[in-house]
Amino acid sequence: MTVVKDRVLDESTDRRTGIYIAGKWVAPANRAVFAVDDPATGQIVQELLDATPDDAVLALDAAADAQRSWALTPPRVRSEILRRAFELVLEKRDVLASTITREMGKSLAEAHAEVTYGAEFLRWFAEEAVRVHGRSMITPEGTGLIHVSRRPVGPCYLVTPWNFPLAMLTRKVGPALAAGCTVVIKPADLTPLTALLVVEILAEAGAPDGVVNLVTTTQPAPISTAMLGDERLRKISFTGSTQVGRILLTQAAQRVLRCSMELGGNAPFIVLEGADVDAAVEGAMLAKFRNVGQACTAANRFHVHHSLADEFAAKLAAKAGALKLGPGSDPGVDLGPMISDAAVERTIQIVDDAVQRGATVLTGGRRPKGEGSFLEPTVLADVQPGSRALAEEIFGPVAPVARFDSVAEALAAANDTEYGLASYVYAPSLDVGHAFASGLEAGMVGVNTGLVSNAAAPFGGVKSSGLGREGGTEGIEEYLTTRYAASPEP
Ligand code: NAD
Repeated sequence: MTVVKDRVLDESTDRRTGIYIAGKWVAPANRAVFAVDDPATGQIVQELLDATPDDAVLALDAAADAQRSWALTPPRVRSEILRRAFELVLEKRDVLASTITREMGKSLAEAHAEVTYGAEFLRWFAEEAVRVHGRSMITPEGTGLIHVSRRPVGPCYLVTPWNFPLAMLTRKVGPALAAGCTVVIKPADLTPLTALLVVEILAEAGAPDGVVNLVTTTQPAPISTAMLGDERLRKISFTGSTQVGRILLTQAAQRVLRCSMELGGNAPFIVLEGADVDAAVEGAMLAKFRNVGQACTAANRFHVHHSLADEFAAKLAAKAGALKLGPGSDPGVDLGPMISDAAVERTIQIVDDAVQRGATVLTGGRRPKGEGSFLEPTVLADVQPGSRALAEEIFGPVAPVARFDSVAEALAAANDTEYGLASYVYAPSLDVGHAFASGLEAGMVGVNTGLVSNAAAPFGGVKSSGLGREGGTEGIEEYLTTRYAASPEP
């Protein structure tokens, strides 16, 4: 991302300025812009306005003004708007996928898969919008009635990361709108362009002006401080690193704000004695190299029973080494670039640290020559305890393989992290796999599968991986509050 402070948007600039308030793209005069880059080439894709805290407050003005009428809009109407948005996302899948690839780097095939996955949250929450239940009961004394109803929390601030520019947004905006909340969206400055298209799709689907607002910025901290300090805001939903999540939680505590936090992970991938190695390698390819390893659910470290470790590592290295690396828009590419040069450098340092502590590089480990933020898919064997590759969230295409001797040792290694988002276990049977999984400290576990995400399932973590769930029947709960009304028995 390049900050271009000496230029302002002019009339020739794309109408999607990066600030969307009350149904309009706005372009305040004499405002600095920043550039969104293509990580495959380093070229500028588009320039956007760099929003300030004042812009964010205007966006919140619009969200607060629209809140009451949106909350009173019949759930069926809200549902039909989301359903129409789902259809529009699929109709516009080509432009959405190519925008994701250009700003984030992933292959076009993966970008199409993200569009399909992300669209499902709009369909799922269109269906959930009309299934928000309350209850009534006679008091135990028999003299009164208790009515319990569910109400929208109110205006929400939605902050999203760069790794899934569409799906991380629909996973928040779908349930928020379904519940009757208005929103201000702040996408990651590395990948804001897909979010601009989603905002227009929601408007085209019928979301009234002010229900969906958006600001893009290279200065998230002051904007978040202004938003979280404003008494009209009722909730923050954040997806990103645990480090930033902690800052936002501290600020949110001052106003006792509702919070959903989808934070970092360090997913263990356990291969138990007697597991099918070929199936485990298939699952590992999906869990590790999807999105170039830049997924919070990515398998971070592989703990393999000593009887299978050499075979597993060799087969994984053969498959990883055969992946085609290149610009995501080139046909047949499996792995696009990482998000930035800085991400490549950090990942190489993690590989070097593992090698210094005794690991062997079976494949990859280098940055190919030429332009773009590329890193070869990498498999490391015999990674030793204490290595950064086991302790830190790698967020890149590096698979460290370590050995264990006993089930107790495997479980202790799996849980030896402050995180608890995803986890994976490959076992000789589902019964053995589920028995092992019951001891894992994680919000999600894949048993004999390398993929855990589904719009119908509750996504989220325990420990320092976050608070709350997105998707499933739980997802809409995050945007609802409970009201109790008392009356005498008629
Ligand atoms: P990040 O925390 O750097 O940024 C996330 C968002 O927060 C961006 O929009 C960014 O602009 C904003 N931000 C950054 N600093 C801020 C500040 N001081 N105040 C307010 N906002 C701020 O994370 P990232 O690099 O974009 O994403 C990678 C991280 O996200 C990884 O740790 C990954 O595990 C996590 N992640 C989690 C999930 C999940 O569902 N649990 C999903 C995807 C990514």
